[in-house]
Amino acid sequence: MKETKRQPERTCIGCRGVFKKDEVVRIVAGPAGFVIDYREKLPGRAAYVCPRIDCIRKALGKGNLSRSLNSKVSPPGEQEFISRLLASSAEKIKSLIVMAAKAGMLLSGYSAVHDGVEKGRVKALIFAADLSDGTREKIMAQEAAPKRQASFLTKDEIGALLNRELVGIIGITDNGFADAIFTETDRLKNLISGAK
Ligand SMILES: [Zn+2]
Repeated sequence: MKETKRQPERTCIGCRGVFKKDEVVRIVAGPAGFVIDYREKLPGRAAYVCPRIDCIRKALGKGNLSRSLNSKVSPPGEQEFISRLLASSAEKIKSLIVMAAKAGMLLSGYSAVHDGVEKGRVKALIFAADLSDGTREKIMAQEAAPKRQASFLTKDEIGALLNRELVGIIGITDNGFADAIFTETDRLKNLISGAK
């Protein structure tokens, strides 16, 4: 993957801060209500919000969103908005995992990942949430284990993405894919911890 180019700046309607395009979430007004345009493909007037609970709360309150988008549709509730956002983010991570696998930049399963880490090829690790602690620790104890590690999905769900049965560990061997995936998992992390 290519390096990210200089991006246009966007103002968050929550905190009014100015951010790079990738740091904020695009929202457009569709005929049936507000749509989180996670892939940034939809046409029309858009509003932007940081994926943080404070900003989302402000953006959804007091007709902020309706005013920014010049629309009379009422905004979704906070929890509804957050769950839609998390679902979009999870979809993006899943598609990046599939793309990395297709590009031959992903190792899966204990022995392949263990071997890849040993050879210094693994840039990021993803552990299934239901992987045993022992297995995780054996991988993490390796000297060349990358710092970027996340728990995401279950063995069943990772397996389904890769057309296999159960996959408990994957190792990403390309920095571009590792960066893209971890930009997303960090976003999720902020939202989940902020929502508590
Ligand atoms: Zn903000």
